[in-house]
Amino acid sequence: MPNNDPDAKPRILTGDTPTGRLHLGHWVGSLENRVALQDRYDCYFLIANMHAFTTRADKPAEIRESVIDIVKDWISCGMDPERSTFVLQTEVPAIAELTWFFAMLLPFNRVMRNPTLKTELETKGLGDNYSFGFPMYTVGQCADILAFRPELVPVGEDQVAHIEPCREVARRFNQLYCGIDPHTEDADYPGAGAVFPIPHAKIGRVGRLVGTDGVNKMSKSLNNAIFLSDTPKQIKKKMGQLFTGRQTMDEPGDIHNALFDYVRIFIRDPERVAELERRYAAGDNIGDGHVKAEVAEAIDELIAPMRERRAEYEKPGGDDLAIDILKAGTRRANEVAEETLAMAKDAMQMDFGKRGELLPA
Ligand code: ATP
Ligand code: MG
Repeated sequence: MPNNDPDAKPRILTGDTPTGRLHLGHWVGSLENRVALQDRYDCYFLIANMHAFTTRADKPAEIRESVIDIVKDWISCGMDPERSTFVLQTEVPAIAELTWFFAMLLPFNRVMRNPTLKTELETKGLGDNYSFGFPMYTVGQCADILAFRPELVPVGEDQVAHIEPCREVARRFNQLYCGIDPHTEDADYPGAGAVFPIPHAKIGRVGRLVGTDGVNKMSKSLNNAIFLSDTPKQIKKKMGQLFTGRQTMDEPGDIHNALFDYVRIFIRDPERVAELERRYAAGDNIGDGHVKAEVAEAIDELIAPMRERRAEYEKPGGDDLAIDILKAGTRRANEVAEETLAMAKDAMQMDFGKRGELLPA
């Protein structure tokens, strides 16, 4: 719905790349915030399937499957398609068009210096042969966000480096094409006649959850993730693999290791957390195995209601149900994105006629 109404709720845009199923890192980094904010904000949640092709152009079937898995993950974790809008990136043509315009507003070297991009090149082993499209996703993400003219973008820590170029693009576009004074405060752009508000990132309760390898960011592509769709047995097994290096239960342990990060993040009773910390630090007859089992149980408590909500979508016909939800959301999303594109083109003096006039019916 157009956002011209001053009483309309402020907007959120965020999303996930369909490169696998969602995991605990997504939950603490972004999903938890999405669920909490969906009543106060007009939320658009995007599945960035075009961006999945930047690293997996040879795996269309996997990307397709992940798209459906992510819709199921979202619903399972409490994101509600009645209150929020689920969007499929490739069916919102305005995003691809805005990507082109925005590519002209970001210096090439600025994109290549992005620290998250560099880390991804390394951890994903992309070497020297990454596609031209890979760094393009930085620009594409500006378009994903700005197509919805949101105020807030709930993301994990690694994505903050991607929100910054988006803010720069928005400022630059507004200054070049809407005559906004460069000294304008970010918050004052909308009132000054800008097309784009300057959105800001909102980092979740945990900005970077370490994976079960105890080293890297938990990531779908690194084989170190506990998925929101894992069974209690899988959770227990994966927690058991978390390496601490500690040998015996009477050896004083380091409560700042990855295992205790998990204790503090997932065990919700602060007294129990304090007790475990005290005994572990003192080497007071408490083995890693016991702590891991307690954490696994706490994680399972978090995931059990998700499992219940997911059940309906695991039955025959579940995939179609998920696809229908995505189609309905994408239709709504196109109303907003088309409106944004028309505003942007007008500002860029591309006012040669309405889009519908020149396309086949
Ligand atoms: P990939 O390995 O394909 O990059 P990913 O696991 O990093 O996948 P994304 O789809 O890139 O997942 O990220 C989706 C959102 O989840 C982003 O906002 C990102 O910051 C957040 N996120 C991902 N992993 C973590 C994590 N381990 N801790 C906190 N937030 C995370
Ligand atoms: Mg990522």
